[in-house]
Amino acid sequence: MTPLPNYIDGAWRTSATSEFLDVLNPATTEILGKVPLSTAAEVDEAVRSAAAAFPGWRRTPALERIQHLFRLKALLEDNFEDLARTITMECGKTLAESRGEVRRAIENVETACGVPVLMQGYLSEDIAPGIDAFMIRQPLGVCAVIAPFNFPGMIPFWFLPYAIACGNTFLVKPSEKVPLTMHRMMQLLEGSGLPKGVVSLVNGAGDTVDAILDHPLVRAVSFVGSTPVARHVYARATAGGKRAQCHGGAKNPIVILPDADMEMAGQIVGDSAFGCAGQRCLAASLAVTVGEARRMFTEVITADAAGRKVGYGLDGGVQMGPVITAQSKARIEGLIGKGASEGAKVLVDGRGPRIPGYERGFFVRPTVLDSVPPASETARTEIFGPVLGLMHVDTIDDAVALANSGAYGNMACLFTSSGAAARKFRNEVEAGNIGVNIGVAAPVAAFPFSGARQSFFGDLHGQGRDAVEFFTQEKVVIERWPKEWSRKF
Ligand code: NAD
Repeated sequence: MTPLPNYIDGAWRTSATSEFLDVLNPATTEILGKVPLSTAAEVDEAVRSAAAAFPGWRRTPALERIQHLFRLKALLEDNFEDLARTITMECGKTLAESRGEVRRAIENVETACGVPVLMQGYLSEDIAPGIDAFMIRQPLGVCAVIAPFNFPGMIPFWFLPYAIACGNTFLVKPSEKVPLTMHRMMQLLEGSGLPKGVVSLVNGAGDTVDAILDHPLVRAVSFVGSTPVARHVYARATAGGKRAQCHGGAKNPIVILPDADMEMAGQIVGDSAFGCAGQRCLAASLAVTVGEARRMFTEVITADAAGRKVGYGLDGGVQMGPVITAQSKARIEGLIGKGASEGAKVLVDGRGPRIPGYERGFFVRPTVLDSVPPASETARTEIFGPVLGLMHVDTIDDAVALANSGAYGNMACLFTSSGAAARKFRNEVEAGNIGVNIGVAAPVAAFPFSGARQSFFGDLHGQGRDAVEFFTQEKVVIERWPKEWSRKF
């Protein structure tokens, strides 16, 4: 099988590496491709080409730059189904989930088309007699994204369209587990007529990432992935004087009050915990019931978990696909066992399922663990699989304290019919994304994809205005014209 090429300096190039990994369909275990672990010399070539393209690209008017994004949007729409199928094949999620992912990628392209306005500065006349001050935003130079496996079509687009619309040149390093989607998207980016060097694609894993982090010409790094790697990327990039924004892992609590619509809560929390096989940084991991919510919620969520149709995402009617690798499956099943040994009760056990026709696939069925002890490893560890832990407390104050006791701060949600409870929750819970009667509080493209505490390292997040600020340098100019107008002379 021919390995996937990189895209460097406006051309598809075979990597010179001798190291490759297989890309597997996690439902069928069919080998879909071979990904190169590109060398530091290839990263250097891509970065130098991006640096060479920068002066011309930054001088191209923003209105001209976004014409490429309009063309890209049309190409993404024309290839919508093909992209969604590619995501399902390499990543395992259902076709409906993959379509949602491509839609959000397109939304980000659309939002970045507002850069001629979003990037504007401001001016004050006469800050002193005859003297004006203004702020302008300028692009940084070569920027890069390092992406995780779980949203191969969407996550690079939290950054890429904004970076290039603002006049930067850009390098993408997709996850080595799912490189096919970005390969297809790079073909579409090429079709949008971007000048060579404006966007490059370099495949690889940890060593390729470190070569990007250590390259002196890279000015900014956007990362999305697990917390230990986010911490590593943030430390190494900033030590080299780069800007960095690093989105990390999560362990998201969902609180259910007794006055919630239980049927709706059960279905929404089920979709959140088990959708994308739980491999979502905004997946519900812990459901915390308050008082009398315990009995009803436990009943509805148990029925939901047991009733979900699990299978290959390309087959009709499937509600949940496999997890990404055999190692992930083993890890998740190990953590379910650990939960039981720590005192949780396994209400629905998803370990070792047999999915007819896909017996070799990496499947774990939805799992519900009841009465997870708050101090246990199961309560603290990101499982990143279709496993929901239940905890039960007496008051909303206990629930807020529990939500704030974990290390992460990606998302927290509340189910209630009380406005006062909702206000208290959003005011007191320390998480970047808050949902009220929402199970996956995923910000649309015009809002920052937030995150706090151990779920995010940096200041400005991906998407929307935050991305425009991240990918531009503010410059303040103070001018005197002519000198007679300022009273001093
Ligand atoms: P990962 O951390 O294993 O990999 C992410 C990227 O880092 C990949 O491109 C990989 O090649 C690279 N990488 C891995 N190990 C490295 C190392 N030692 N040095 C340098 N680079 C390295 O994450 P993953 O398994 O692909 O994705 C799942 C994780 O991502 C979960 O923890 C999930 O919560 C998180 N995630 C977070 C968000 C968010 O917005 N906060 C969104 C999606 C996923």
